Amino acid sequence: MTTSRRTILAAGMAAAGLASLAAPHVTRAQQRPPRQARMVPHGDLSVLDPIWTTQNMAAYHGAMMYDTLFGIDGNFNPQPQMVGKTNISADRKTYTFELRPGLRWHDGTAVTARDCVASLRRWQVKDGAGTHLFARVADTPVVDEKTFRIVLKEPYGLLIEALAKTSTPMCFMMKAEIAATDPNTQITRHIGSGPFKFVEAEYRQGSRVVYERNPDYVPRSEAASGIAGGKRVLLDRVIWNIMPDAQTASSALQDEFGLAYLFISHDLAVVEHIGHRIAVMYLGRIVELAPKDRIFAQPQHPYTEALMAAAPIANPKLRRKRLVIEGDVPSPMNPPSGCHFHTRCPYAEARCKQTYPPLQEIAPGHFVACHLRSKDTAAAA
Ligand code: SF4
Repeated sequence: MTTSRRTILAAGMAAAGLASLAAPHVTRAQQRPPRQARMVPHGDLSVLDPIWTTQNMAAYHGAMMYDTLFGIDGNFNPQPQMVGKTNISADRKTYTFELRPGLRWHDGTAVTARDCVASLRRWQVKDGAGTHLFARVADTPVVDEKTFRIVLKEPYGLLIEALAKTSTPMCFMMKAEIAATDPNTQITRHIGSGPFKFVEAEYRQGSRVVYERNPDYVPRSEAASGIAGGKRVLLDRVIWNIMPDAQTASSALQDEFGLAYLFISHDLAVVEHIGHRIAVMYLGRIVELAPKDRIFAQPQHPYTEALMAAAPIANPKLRRKRLVIEGDVPSPMNPPSGCHFHTRCPYAEARCKQTYPPLQEIAPGHFVACHLRSKDTAAAA
């Protein structure tokens, strides 16, 4: 595959959570009560070194607390982030980068060119684009406290794109003494220069990750775009509530926000696990709708009955009563007349070919579309 600027940049833009850092507004904390946001991420934050791993969770963590030399804007173009000025020599083999003023680590010390060179050298060992770039690097001299160079053996047109890319591992900057850690060993100190500080004392793997706003962070003056531009932070604290069990996470969302969601699946075991109210569809129409417990205990529509009979039981000694339905599923573009299920239904009668049965309530909250089902049959079941 040919490595192009777009493939390098596009690969990481799926990290949508990163864009939330670049919100176009600022409010002073002392004029309002503290504001915090809580989120339930899709996974656990088990690795705190975003260079050591390619895990997206580690990259999200990195984007909260670290900064990058360049960032990708909303048009997939790299833009300077920690870098203030860039100079490219006429032969395109020497890139000189000067850091913008005001950059500080979370421990209060200034970000230096030496820190950035050490970070680049550790990152390139772990990252494919970095390795590709550094195969052409002759030297990375530090010019002064704020200036360093990347000197190439030959021109390399993707240099800035590689530094800006959002695919993992991203090129996060770390303090030189931390970046001196063997690239194949995880770092043990977590000091970034990004818009949020990692609150290590509140970190509980598998449970909770906390970040506090970095009051010393100086955002760029440009408008936010993608993960480039001014990262103006609106929140004082961000809390990740880690919930490895999807059922626990969805129940928490439902309890707190009264959230309802539609879940579509062919897997009855999953449906039974997470659903409250179940609608069974055949050829695009609802044929049965009922509370979960009732529909699994007393399926009334023949198609639902067949589905339940086909669901495996996690006990080799138990067998369900089988209801085999024959034939292929008709085309939804040209469904059969009358009840769409009549070509496969073992109970089909003459009227089933003529008239589509209405969805009618046969018991409180239990609706069925079948000529053979009614309140009377439900009461007798
Ligand atoms: S209406 Fe007739 S064909 Fe349709 S599900 Fe009921 S019995 Fe079967």
